[in-house]
Amino acid sequence: MPIFFIGHGSPMNAIEETEFSRTWQTLTDSIPTPKAILCISAHWITEKTSITSNDFPPTIHDFGGFPKELFEVNYHTPGDRNLAKQIADSLSEIPAVLDTSWGLDHGTWSILRHIYPDANIPVLQLSIRNTPDGNFHFNLGKKLQNLRNQDILLVGSGNLIHNLRLADWGKMNDSEYGFDWAIRANNLFKSLILNREDGSLIHYESLGPDIDLAIPTPEHFIPFLYILGASSPSDKIQFFNDKVVMGSLNMTSVRYG
Ligand code: ZN
Repeated sequence: MPIFFIGHGSPMNAIEETEFSRTWQTLTDSIPTPKAILCISAHWITEKTSITSNDFPPTIHDFGGFPKELFEVNYHTPGDRNLAKQIADSLSEIPAVLDTSWGLDHGTWSILRHIYPDANIPVLQLSIRNTPDGNFHFNLGKKLQNLRNQDILLVGSGNLIHNLRLADWGKMNDSEYGFDWAIRANNLFKSLILNREDGSLIHYESLGPDIDLAIPTPEHFIPFLYILGASSPSDKIQFFNDKVVMGSLNMTSVRYG
């Protein structure tokens, strides 16, 4: 089973037909139908690694200031409690708890409602533990690799470049607009990913000033490290939605396998 890191960008992509959401709609054309989906979203950060175990995870509208239509989205899809338990057990020395207090946040449903509009595949979320240590996230991702052989689709949802403070909101409707540093950061990320310089990506704090601006806080980058951990050296690597928008965000997404 291939795995994906997907740049989710604005929650509006959930309800708008954009070039990004249109690409999401085509992703299933070339992959087998998964038995379940495990999503690692930038928007669920916890003290302990947690896995949703609701029978029907609620749709969480974890944002403010957007149109009513976005708050009315209900991505009603089943969970899978047994699979949640199996995944928690497989993490062995990393303690993981089953959770029914969360559900699916917009990092997950804003993309999945385009990829799987029928919402008939069980979806689980794995939380991001509250640590900036890239090794922790990469190593946890490694433990998820065997799920690929069980027809489970892994999706990391975040943004490699995510600096909202510097974003140019006036360019919100431009299909592509990047500050020089963000364009350089996008190119650097792609080259490190293609050349399998995993160590440099894990130690993202040491990649220099462009990346410091790209990752002012690590939560949107970290889902990528889980996918990197779950990738294998034999995976073919492909990029899609490779664009910088609003100056300081990128939608660049990666498929392994
Ligand atoms: Zn986000």
